Amino acid sequence: MKKIYLLLFLFIISIPLRAQTAKEMAAAFEKEATENSQLPQLAHELMDVIGPRLVGTPQMKNAHDWAVNTYKKWGISAENEQWGTWRGWERGITHIDMISPRVVSLTGRQLAWSPGTSSKGITAGLITIPSLKDSLAFKNWVSAVKGKLVLVSMPQPTGRPDYNWEEFATPESFAKMKEDREAQEEAWRQKLRATGYSSRTINEALEEAGAAGIIQSRWSNGFGANKIFSANTKKIPVIDLSLEDYGMLYRMVEHGSNPILKVVAESKELGRVPTFNTIATIPGTELPEEYVILSAHFDSWDGGTGATDNGTGTITMMETARILKKLYPNPKRTIIIGLWGSEEQGLNGSRAFVEDHPEIVAGMQALFNQDNGTGRVVNLSGQGFLNSYAYLGHWLEAVPDAITKHIETTFPGNPGGGGSDYASFVAAGAPAFSLSSLSWSYWNYTWHTNLDTYDKIVFDDVRSNVILTAILTYMASEDPERTSREKAVLSINPRTGERRSWPSPRSPTREGGTD
Ligand SMILES: [Zn+2]
Repeated sequence: MKKIYLLLFLFIISIPLRAQTAKEMAAAFEKEATENSQLPQLAHELMDVIGPRLVGTPQMKNAHDWAVNTYKKWGISAENEQWGTWRGWERGITHIDMISPRVVSLTGRQLAWSPGTSSKGITAGLITIPSLKDSLAFKNWVSAVKGKLVLVSMPQPTGRPDYNWEEFATPESFAKMKEDREAQEEAWRQKLRATGYSSRTINEALEEAGAAGIIQSRWSNGFGANKIFSANTKKIPVIDLSLEDYGMLYRMVEHGSNPILKVVAESKELGRVPTFNTIATIPGTELPEEYVILSAHFDSWDGGTGATDNGTGTITMMETARILKKLYPNPKRTIIIGLWGSEEQGLNGSRAFVEDHPEIVAGMQALFNQDNGTGRVVNLSGQGFLNSYAYLGHWLEAVPDAITKHIETTFPGNPGGGGSDYASFVAAGAPAFSLSSLSWSYWNYTWHTNLDTYDKIVFDDVRSNVILTAILTYMASEDPERTSREKAVLSINPRTGERRSWPSPRSPTREGGTD
């Protein structure tokens, strides 16, 4: 009888006690994150010193080694796990000058994996693609590109983003600009269609016809921002120029001012190189074969330094790991911090991890991924897991109101089919969640642009995300219950009128950059 009373008593007091511990831990995480933040130091080392992390470059490998060494300093064991190989390439000096009719250095760069030039570079005149009747007319014309640099992008009618027009233009003038621009875009599409090629395939045709190089400008609809992706030529360089310089050159060609450019682009081909994930582990004490995973992709495009895509996600997870190791060194469940390679080419690192570690995926309690910029977390979806409300809702109760008041939750939500690495785990039926950020003009200004650099990081928001991630990880690790993986009956997709289906796992590209 006595024993039963004692058990009952312990049961009753243990609930508030646990809540008390959670609040205390949350306060300790917040204090450490605020008073001893390593975020600016980590951001400096990663973005300024290592630089962008394009898969297959020596800088990507440097980043993996840096992460392992940084974890080691904090007493966390970590290793680089190879999952494939990629075409090795290293960016060199890009220097683009107009040398006639006057001399000026232009703002631009080689695209990723673009063939290079010798150190002497290419000196050549420019040509635009005229409006032609059909693909036959294009075939008859295309030899004109021989030895020339070809301007392949539509010149923008304005370098001012729409919000700037909206603020200052008369409504009539803003409407007229948009109308003119739409007409110009339509004409450009028709012109391209007539050649028989798409914007993606025309470069190859121009290369085959003997062009000296391709000049493009892929404006990102913000002052000074261009999207910088990869080239698709075999021998000739592809250069992206700023909207301002590109527009000037285009007008000069159209007016017969015969600009001459000198382009030096000294990249190096490095053959096949191994590609990795960095996996750090804080072993669990009670349930070592159950896992809470902190997740962020480590790679980036290389127009900027990958600061908000995904330097901020990376340093969020690393800083969280540091704090957990310091204040919660003996977690109940095992904590893994996965920094994935080659997300940008199709979630390759995380898909490889899912494929290579079915036992970890089977033992997952939860995964938290962050990958859409520097902003504080504002959205959290249950990803289609029927009972996600119960556990995520419970874990969020330990997070300070100052953080949760910004977060809109959706339960059970729909399973993400892509976009970032949590989707690789969701597809395998494992409870993986996206800590989705406030945009801070991500899509126009920093996502895959030349402007994705350290100065765009909003450290207060990243710090808030560290505190959130640390608390969620602690709560998930300590939860007496194993999370449910039961899937909700998914909603009807209003676009197709059909019921959504759960995404299925996909294999990674393990031999990348071959074509
Ligand atoms: Zn990303």
